[in-house]
Amino acid sequence: MYEWYGERYWGAAHGLAGIMHVLLDVELKPDELEDVKGTLKYMINNCFPSGNYPISEEDRKRDVLVHWCHGAPGIALTLVKAAKVFGDKEFLDAAINAAEVVWSSGLLKRVGICHGISGNAYVFISLYQLTGNIEFLYKAKAFTCFLLDRAQKLTSAGEMHGGDSPYSMFEGMGGMAYLFLDMIDPSKARFPAYEL
Ligand SMILES: [Zn+2]
Repeated sequence: MYEWYGERYWGAAHGLAGIMHVLLDVELKPDELEDVKGTLKYMINNCFPSGNYPISEEDRKRDVLVHWCHGAPGIALTLVKAAKVFGDKEFLDAAINAAEVVWSSGLLKRVGICHGISGNAYVFISLYQLTGNIEFLYKAKAFTCFLLDRAQKLTSAGEMHGGDSPYSMFEGMGGMAYLFLDMIDPSKARFPAYEL
């Protein structure tokens, strides 16, 4: 299994969810597809009681991060993809449950797509595209409108974190600007450099 800094991560940026996401875009043999399915089912069956997902195999106790990089949001995007590829209701239900964690956890203090509000908005965009359920679009819009109305003011006031690299795509305003552009036509939106 893939390790990064000696840990077997689960999330989209450094671990299983990201690897499975890429594999779902590749032409796989039937036994390989079963491995992908089995891995995702293992993750679904081992999520926290809250519905959020662990950071890594080695860190199965701390239920704190709800980010694209670590936690339910990145895993939700992979589960949406799996629901599309396999047409399996179990994956769709798990994706909706993960999205519920993202919604009920509320707003992050950062603006970017890796571990900020912008990235979490893509969970709802992705589910809206798959299901056509307008509720998900409203949720994506709620996160986006908050950023549009408040991010600049709250970042200047020090109440929100502009990111260690404030203009970057993944950490800073670059990702937020990308979300704003994508919300002009959400049916064509894609998590940048990730969803194909
Ligand atoms: Zn991150």
